Amino acid sequence: MKVKTGYLEVIAGPMFSGKTEELIRRLKRAAIGKKKVQVFKHKIDSRYGSEKKLFSHNGMSFDSEIIEKSSEILNCLDKKTEIVGVDEAQWFGDELLPVVQALLKKHKKVIVSGLAMTFDRQPFAPLPTLMAMADGVTKLSAICTICGDDAVFHKRITKGKTVDSTVADPSLVGKFDAYEARCRRCWKK
Ligand SMILES: [Zn+2]
Repeated sequence: MKVKTGYLEVIAGPMFSGKTEELIRRLKRAAIGKKKVQVFKHKIDSRYGSEKKLFSHNGMSFDSEIIEKSSEILNCLDKKTEIVGVDEAQWFGDELLPVVQALLKKHKKVIVSGLAMTFDRQPFAPLPTLMAMADGVTKLSAICTICGDDAVFHKRITKGKTVDSTVADPSLVGKFDAYEARCRRCWKK
């Protein structure tokens, strides 16, 4: 029998790149394989209402638990859980890192999705560190709103209430028309 070990997969990219869709696809495969799965999302991610589910833009969904702090993942963890999913990991900040380390020590498979960059093109913690730690990284791109090329960035095109791009702006969460996917060339336009 194979020795069990922790395994970290990271799905990163800009807005509109299908990160949640890819996370849900992997979680559904695990569920079909009769693996015990637990999924967490941050309370702030209230798009499409505050239901206890992940939703992708293309209409897929998967049951999730809503938490405010990443330490709740360890408190809520079922002993039988084999796979732990975390969506929109950027809202948890660096506090998520020791939690992921603890899950890996417990030999869990951890699948994390989140924004690699902020809307003003700064690395968005904790994704850069998670990508460095991961066994596997999937970097997704969106489609540039202006030229149609692959877009690895997103840009805020509406003025928000917050200036800090690493903090969720309560006036803009879930407002997808406040942002656009942009390629490197078109980002400044
Ligand atoms: Zn472009």
